[in-house]
Amino acid sequence: MKQNVKQIVEQVIEDVKAKNPLQEEFHQTVEEVLTSLIPVLEKNPNYIKYKILDRLVEPDRQIMFRVPWTDDKGEIHINRGFRVQFNSAIGPYKGGLRFHPSVNLSIIKFLGFEQIFKNSLTGLPIGGGKGGSDFNPKGKSDIEIMRFCQSFMTELYRHIGPDVDVPAGDIGVGGREIGYLYGQYKKIRNSTDQGVLTGKDLTFGGSLARIQATGYGVIYFVEEMLKEAGKDLKDKTIVVSGSGNVAIYTVKKAQELGAKVVAMCDSDGYIFDEEGIDVELIRQIKEVERKRIKEYAMRKPSAKYFEGNKGIWTVKADIVLPCATQNEIDLESAKIIVENGTIAVGEGSNMPCTNEAIKYFLEKGVLLAPAKATNAGGVATSALEMAQNSMRLSWTFEEVDEKLKDIMINIFKKTRDAAKEYGYGTNYLAGANIAGFIKVADAMVAEGIV
Ligand code: GLU
Repeated sequence: MKQNVKQIVEQVIEDVKAKNPLQEEFHQTVEEVLTSLIPVLEKNPNYIKYKILDRLVEPDRQIMFRVPWTDDKGEIHINRGFRVQFNSAIGPYKGGLRFHPSVNLSIIKFLGFEQIFKNSLTGLPIGGGKGGSDFNPKGKSDIEIMRFCQSFMTELYRHIGPDVDVPAGDIGVGGREIGYLYGQYKKIRNSTDQGVLTGKDLTFGGSLARIQATGYGVIYFVEEMLKEAGKDLKDKTIVVSGSGNVAIYTVKKAQELGAKVVAMCDSDGYIFDEEGIDVELIRQIKEVERKRIKEYAMRKPSAKYFEGNKGIWTVKADIVLPCATQNEIDLESAKIIVENGTIAVGEGSNMPCTNEAIKYFLEKGVLLAPAKATNAGGVATSALEMAQNSMRLSWTFEEVDEKLKDIMINIFKKTRDAAKEYGYGTNYLAGANIAGFIKVADAMVAEGIV
């Protein structure tokens, strides 16, 4: 049976590669997740019988559409829009929208696949989906962003709904974009349906603490993982890549707990500030003024700016928290990180480490907090936003933050226990995959072959 299960898993991975050629990021996540599930499948032959893996890797549906829009000079542009509704076994499709020129079907499918397990780990009733566009928001005027969002929603609206599919933000999509998307949805549907999108402004159904949730959640998870190893965040030197929503609130919470964050980056380069990052200044530059991180070094004398962001991994730190984008840490950077004596890596962005980098960290005994579990606080708080919308009331910041913290502690426990139970020790990546998978697989068995 043992050999047999391994062969079955390898066959599913081969089939995914053959059926979805060139979708490298999607292949990467499928390979990483499925391989770690072998001991679970050996113990539960029903999952093989009901073809759970074959069903999981094929999205319920993949929607691709044209998004025409006009720039401020009157020139017409055509972008491609995506929404992949991956799995609804445990609840409505849930996952963000990413607007970035690198977006293609492979990127959306890898994100959607990861989202299935992440959402399951939250313990809340949300399925997995993801969407976005290859639209590049960089340098666009506010009105151009609005026109793009309206055009995007003019197609997307027919596929979503509070009990069907609930998009939110991701890279390139924040509160401003969610507002424009919601306005257009409401106009077309003539229905307020607040729960159709999350990450909304507080004035029309947004949840307190949603903005902070992903970053705070990253630190709550890392804190639990360190505690388990008899360590904590106090006085630790930390490098956080990125300077978007996840990175900013990760830094803020890490500092609150006594850590010193010395470096951050954007896609152009990184800053090193030996006095510790002034996160309010970063927020001002990146979120309010929408400028490049280079600005920080011009305004803060203790900081240095370096062109190119890969160099951020050469900065010596006790803990590194990749919070920028996928595959930002490859094997080469992983080797430098280990050489620098780093004790823990916490994945804030989705799939920030290549499979080779992950393998290397685990071999070298670096504690790895996997993205699916570590960054689940964002989507968990989105589910809390949906709950508040359904109840037509709102909780205080403290109430939401407390719920978020409980959820993150529970995710850590589930992850740790599943890793232990299936012989993975402190391989929390395998633990997160397994704990996330079992709930979805059981639902898929119970709901029949659909
Ligand atoms: N884009 C975020 C993620 O990767 C949040 C999704 C959501 O809130 O639906 O989980």
